[in-house]
Amino acid sequence: MADSELGSEVDRARAGDTRALARLLSLVEGSSPRVRSVIKELLPHAGGARVIGLTGPPGVGKSTVTGALVSAFRATGARIAVLAVDPTSPFTGGALLGDRVRMQQHATDEAVFIRSMASRGHLGGLAAATPQAIRVLDAVGFDVIIIETVGVGQAEVAIASLADSVVVLLAPGMGDAIQAAKAGILEVADLFVVNKADQPDAQQAVRDLRHMIALADRGPADWKPPVVTAIATRGEGIEEVVTRLEAHRSWLNSSGELARRRQARAREEITALAFAALRGRLTADRVDALTRRVADGTLDPFQAAEELLDPRVG
Ligand code: GDP
Repeated sequence: MADSELGSEVDRARAGDTRALARLLSLVEGSSPRVRSVIKELLPHAGGARVIGLTGPPGVGKSTVTGALVSAFRATGARIAVLAVDPTSPFTGGALLGDRVRMQQHATDEAVFIRSMASRGHLGGLAAATPQAIRVLDAVGFDVIIIETVGVGQAEVAIASLADSVVVLLAPGMGDAIQAAKAGILEVADLFVVNKADQPDAQQAVRDLRHMIALADRGPADWKPPVVTAIATRGEGIEEVVTRLEAHRSWLNSSGELARRRQARAREEITALAFAALRGRLTADRVDALTRRVADGTLDPFQAAEELLDPRVG
């Protein structure tokens, strides 16, 4: 693709051409050097979308809740994109079977776009690729972007925290709650949803979570994550999730937290890219050559490290 074609691809995607959008996403998810020009071109158009992270253990009801949230946001006229990120899956790019199944109800709606991403083949990993994918979706005009991640481990937490608001989904049963606390999810969650409230012990899970939240060390001006219940299969509780997300959004704006979060995100993004570039420089050949000189005493290790990082030394 020549740069002029790239320009028209961006224009097409912004005009609502879904296939052009899919191609742009493939580009930024891959290791093509064109990523830079795409991002540069999109940058002036980005910044308007609201990014919502949704995470939780497998089977908790993420797809079902996402589907219900898409409907709720669509009812307000918003254009909505879903980025399903699976840090554990070896599959990459395009739409996975799960997407088609999960989002059948929105298949014919052009204002809804769904995309899966997995870890293989990404330059700098998902940590580097996800923010770029968000930027593409933002710049082509989606009002709401939901990033759905599987699990409550550190990788998922890191991806979820690319969002302005993070929803953590749990289901009744102590295991999840303990798991969540262990994974440090308390620090990143802005809203807890205990889904499957039609099952026993949902209120117990709510109480456990509220107890944990109360114990957390928060200042008086800090956001205290609410805990709500839902029965996603019946669409119950979804309006409340939307209402709480609205409240969180207002708080983000009035407290200055939105700007702070976006800065923290920019910092993460820069460092992820820098580390990827650095890894690229630490090739075996270059290290081997320096290793020999350090081992035979002709080069000191400090200078060797400096040479390794020096961009003028190829
Ligand atoms: P995910 O793996 O977190 O994306 O979970 P899914 O959305 O695929 O849901 C897993 C299973 O739980 C499916 O069979 C859903 O129909 C079911 N499920 C989702 N929400 C609820 C709920 O509120 N109550 C009950 N009983 N089942 C639910």
